[in-house]
Amino acid sequence: MNYLWAAGTHQGRLRSNNEDAYAPEASGRGPGPVTVMVADGMGGHAGGEVASRLAVDTALMVEGTPAERVTKANKVVIEAALREPGLAGMGTTLTLAELGPDDTIRLAHVGDSRAYLLRDGDFEMVTDDHTVVAEHVAAGRLSTQDALTHPQRSMLTRVLGLSPEVEVDEIEIDVKEGDRLLICSDGLTNMVPEDRIAATLGKASPEEAVWTLIEQANRAGGHDNITVVVVQVIT
Ligand code: MG
Repeated sequence: MNYLWAAGTHQGRLRSNNEDAYAPEASGRGPGPVTVMVADGMGGHAGGEVASRLAVDTALMVEGTPAERVTKANKVVIEAALREPGLAGMGTTLTLAELGPDDTIRLAHVGDSRAYLLRDGDFEMVTDDHTVVAEHVAAGRLSTQDALTHPQRSMLTRVLGLSPEVEVDEIEIDVKEGDRLLICSDGLTNMVPEDRIAATLGKASPEEAVWTLIEQANRAGGHDNITVVVVQVIT
């Protein structure tokens, strides 16, 4: 099996800078191994941009399982914040997928940048949001519908840069021809309904899907930075 991948970002219509980071920057095609990822940074001054960039660059550079690479990225973000007082308090999400030559995608995930799988018309979120609101929904205290507009929907319970002991979720997917994997920052998922994302993803090439989804988020208001990675499994 081969993978076809594309990625893109846009700062949106309200933010003056882009604190998201992603990899790889160029689209491509091949059997893997290839690593794709999205990081959504936060923190005052330049902190958010530095944290997401550092996390992506570190995870690209180091060896190990996806979870080990995310753990290493966490350490590097923490160390940078300790060295530079202006960066204190910076943090970032990181959702990483290793596209394996053994027809397996291995994900490692911290935060609320989501991964979705589109297979045979079914669109399913494969990551859990590490947010206060998602925990309320899981515990039955809040409906999925109310969660969409909850004022604290971006408040994270897990993030890189906060604690040396970060728990990393690991997810493994055995891929089939035609599968599409989406990884995106919340600038997409807070602006565009899931059924619309699924429809776009299902009928476009990865490259077209990336830029159409970014345009849809901007048309809906573009309240945040928008970053999208799309992978399609082909023969
Ligand atoms: Mg965001």
